[in-house]
Amino acid sequence: MDLRSDTVTQPTLAMRDAMTRADVGDDVYGEDATINALEQRVARWLGKEDALFCSSGTQSNLLGLLSHCRNGEEYIVGQEYHTYRYEAGGAAVLGGIVPQTIEVEADGTLSLDTIAERIKPNDPHFPITRLLAFENTHAGQVVSQDYFAQARSLAEQHGLKMHLDGARLVNAMAATQLTAAELAAPFDSVSVCCSKGLGAPVGSLLVGPADYIARARRWRKMVGGGMRQAGILAAAIDYALNHHLERIQDDHDNAKWLAATLQNLCVNSHIGVSDARTNMVYVTLPSLEFAQSLQRFMEENKIKVGAARKLRLVTHLDITRHDLERFTVLFEEFLKTQ
Ligand SMILES: *Cc1c(COP(=O)(O)O)cnc(C)c1O
Repeated sequence: MDLRSDTVTQPTLAMRDAMTRADVGDDVYGEDATINALEQRVARWLGKEDALFCSSGTQSNLLGLLSHCRNGEEYIVGQEYHTYRYEAGGAAVLGGIVPQTIEVEADGTLSLDTIAERIKPNDPHFPITRLLAFENTHAGQVVSQDYFAQARSLAEQHGLKMHLDGARLVNAMAATQLTAAELAAPFDSVSVCCSKGLGAPVGSLLVGPADYIARARRWRKMVGGGMRQAGILAAAIDYALNHHLERIQDDHDNAKWLAATLQNLCVNSHIGVSDARTNMVYVTLPSLEFAQSLQRFMEENKIKVGAARKLRLVTHLDITRHDLERFTVLFEEFLKTQ
């Protein structure tokens, strides 16, 4: 049992079977039929012109930023967003793109007033502001479409583009009952991950206008992401879109159950348990030492959790309700030893 992340899922036997039967070719020559079909499918799904298969969400976001901004241009981004904090500074290192970070609000948004203050006037002192980069879901939280509509009108007033890191867009879909195209509508470009809740082993897609995706394709080659018979991976994603999309709601239901059960166990304790945020529950523990001994205790019982004071528990394809029952029984047992 591994509750650290939804990236830990194992490809199912049926998924592996679909992979063995994939029609493949050399994708750098544009000859992989399974990749071509997947890119078309995902572009249509998100209501955009074109899509590009990428090796990871980090690569997809990187190509996304590189294709919007040139050297010396700037993107405005949340301090805690993945495209700034968790991608090793790739946009700055490889693209000379300047990040202008802003603190993320409790609801996962960036203050529009602060964004407006940070947009640079045309002056040789300043980098050229080009792009607003957002995230949905952020730390499991769904960001409201109302907010994105307002951000869009601000972006348009200033001639800026908008990129969405939609690593967990499928979780936002399940939570809001909106379509992928509705969620993607305020954005020029979107990155979606297929190796998280969808349960494919590898791959993300970048979607956007055709000329933008053509630029991203060149960047992908440059950073070594041009893959050959990659259709074997696209087949896994195709399978996931057909068979794992509907069940995302199960992960959210499981997270709800987990949050409610832990909240019950933790009343009158020094432990705070968040409500479920899509497929995540956050548990605030009294100290790092407490977190580390909880991790050791769970490890002895063959359960993997992180060791942070603010512990993130993530539900996914390989976590059943029965697993969570066992986890909460052990959690209660651990509390008694403290
Ligand atoms: C996981 C994740 C990504 C992409 O990560 P990779 O591991 O490179 O696929 C991007 N953004 C967010 C918010 C994520 O959680």
